[in-house]
Amino acid sequence: SSNHYDVIIIGAGAAGLMCAATAGYRGRRVLVLDHANKPGKKILMSGGGRCNFTNLNSTPANFLSDNPHFCISALRRYTPQAFLELVERHGIEHEEKAAGQLFCKDSAKDIVNMLLTECEWAGAGIRMKTSVNNITQGSEGYQVNTSSGTLTCESLVVACGGLSIPTMGATGFGYDLARQFGLRVLPTRAGLVPFTLHPELKQQLAPLSGVSCPVDAACNNQHFRDPMLVTHRGLSGPSMLQVSSFWQPGDSLIINLLPGRNIREELASLRKQKPQSTVAQYLAWHLPKRFAQAFNELYGWRGPLQSYKNSDIEQIADTLGQWTVKPAGTEGYRTAEVTLGGVDTRQLSSKTMATLEHPSLYFIGEVVDVTGHLGGHNFQWAWASGVAAGQHV
Ligand code: FAD
Repeated sequence: SSNHYDVIIIGAGAAGLMCAATAGYRGRRVLVLDHANKPGKKILMSGGGRCNFTNLNSTPANFLSDNPHFCISALRRYTPQAFLELVERHGIEHEEKAAGQLFCKDSAKDIVNMLLTECEWAGAGIRMKTSVNNITQGSEGYQVNTSSGTLTCESLVVACGGLSIPTMGATGFGYDLARQFGLRVLPTRAGLVPFTLHPELKQQLAPLSGVSCPVDAACNNQHFRDPMLVTHRGLSGPSMLQVSSFWQPGDSLIINLLPGRNIREELASLRKQKPQSTVAQYLAWHLPKRFAQAFNELYGWRGPLQSYKNSDIEQIADTLGQWTVKPAGTEGYRTAEVTLGGVDTRQLSSKTMATLEHPSLYFIGEVVDVTGHLGGHNFQWAWASGVAAGQHV
């Protein structure tokens, strides 16, 4: 009947659209359902509107999961190079920002349009503004009850994404479906998200608001050498977003404000060679001017270096090299780029993304417990897991 499909995909995001095109090209009758008013909304807002669509240096080490080997197979079979070829075939101009991070030159719209064109060429249908109320299993496979009637399908793909940015249409529906079919859902939390600070520190750092500087930030032994940005709400910027994925409430961050420098030795030799110079001067040579000033003010380092004892210099070096900050929390799902945790991969096939118990039920993209580092890895997982399922449904 006209309401029967080979494949129904819930979620017209990065993973769902990629899966739809792949399955469509194989001659499958495909329909994508989404409750939002337009497809790929998160793609549109990604990478500051220019979508960091992949990372040429992506390896399985760039992903967090309770089952770290799971992602290897799909990532190996659909590489960043393969996605780049698709982008180039569509004539989309792109540029490499930080090492390996590929962005659209013009707009993230190019990526959404590319995916929609691929779906069209592949004959995959997309139906927006359609909520899925529930799913039941029947003789014709899955029965999908939607706000615009009942549909049936042989294979069902769940590509509903995670919980981040609820205003963009994120729901926990994918997790609910997983539970309904007896799958384990690992606890979820916000990842790639700015930190909030306790009132006292927040006030102390207020003069630094808007200032960015390159740091080495660490949390639970995971180091990231990227810029940090102080905001009026707390700490942000790439290094903070990266470590946030490894942070648990109560943990401290250890931030080296002068990575790669031997601060203690440099201060000691400066004291010897130019006894009249100050900590403020040293900071001004190596840090952004405003940051240097405000940080020096914060710690009240005054007077010529010759008035500092060795123990003072050690303390200053520790403060700069291992600045320890205990965040109050994170901004949560409201601003998080990703959701950590999700559908336990131990119950999925790493080759096809099908669930082991129900071989025609698939989970792809962010709803699965695979989360990338910042820098294009999350989209690479969406593409790779979407293709893996699309080749099999
Ligand atoms: P999504 O793209 O979120 O798609 C899920 C879809 O499912 C949505 O269209 C939603 O409307 C739909 N849906 C949800 N619930 C239901 C329901 N109940 N019924 C019907 N439909 C439903 N990653 C990168 O790699 N590079 C970046 O530059 C980048 N920048 C980002 C910037 C921001 C601000 C954010 C929030 C994220 C960013 N990410 C980035 C992460 C990336 O967007 C996600 O990892 C990726 O979109 C996940 O793809 P997905 O298809 O699994 O989910």
